[in-house]
Amino acid sequence: MAAASNGTPAPKPVRCAIYTRKSTEEGLNQEFNSLDAQREAGEAYIVSQKHDGWTLVPTQYSDGGYTGANIERPGVRHLLADIEAGEIDCVVVYKVVRNKYGTLLRGLLHCDACGTAMVHTYTVKNSRRYRYYVCLTAQQQGWDACPSKSLPAQRVEDSIVDRIRSLGSDPRIAAETARKVREQAETSLQELQAELKTAEKELNRLQRELVKVAAAPGGNGVRTDRVADLQDRIQTTERRVAEVRGEPGILDAEAVSQPELKQALEAFDPVWKALNTGEQNRIVRALVERVGYDGRTGKIAVTFRSAGFKELCGTVENYENLQ
Ligand SMILES: [Zn+2]
Repeated sequence: MAAASNGTPAPKPVRCAIYTRKSTEEGLNQEFNSLDAQREAGEAYIVSQKHDGWTLVPTQYSDGGYTGANIERPGVRHLLADIEAGEIDCVVVYKVVRNKYGTLLRGLLHCDACGTAMVHTYTVKNSRRYRYYVCLTAQQQGWDACPSKSLPAQRVEDSIVDRIRSLGSDPRIAAETARKVREQAETSLQELQAELKTAEKELNRLQRELVKVAAAPGGNGVRTDRVADLQDRIQTTERRVAEVRGEPGILDAEAVSQPELKQALEAFDPVWKALNTGEQNRIVRALVERVGYDGRTGKIAVTFRSAGFKELCGTVENYENLQ
């Protein structure tokens, strides 16, 4: 065997095969359920053990389309055959672990220091995965480009879940949230009323013009075109007026009463725990419009969606129906 120049013997080469497989267990971290991601993590781990002589065997051993219930696993058979043939010293398998939240804030978390999105990422250290949200500016332009840099993913996700939970336990927050929901509904209502007024005015004007054009002497094609055009526009405007008139009703239906909100949030804990990762993701997206992190102050600001509370009420009902 070759010896290193400083006299210490080079480590005995360890030929490593990577085995990847799909798991069908529900609630698993989808990212690492991908064969490519598992292989990448395996490769990174082998590189990290280079000092012990670890090298990668290029053959890919994989059971992508085979579930745990299926005994026929060609990837495993291939692997066993190569081990018996003496071609492999070590097998690296990525343990697909249950991830508490997945990437709960993907697309929701923004950097308030520079205004860009914060993206989910991870590092693998000693085969353990550490998740982060990184400011896009810091990731693309260098660590000093933004004071927010990165946040440990678990910490910020826990904090958001706590914030949602506290809405129910703190009567002041519940009241304030209900007030904000009403306020938003009222603002939209005022905007709709203003639009309705404008549309009705336009409708009046068009009808007056139509009467004028229709009453004018002469019967040429130009006048007929003008009448048809006016009738078209009147129809469109009438439809819009009817739509706008109907909309305040929708707003009333979406506004959530305070007892309703309180009830939904009180049931949050038992419901939350019973949900799988995908459902938790949907709930957070239904409730939270935006999360902002400012690295200068360390503050995390949550903007809640108003209509989302109605959806949460619905979710609670559905859950209870399953009991
Ligand atoms: Zn930033």
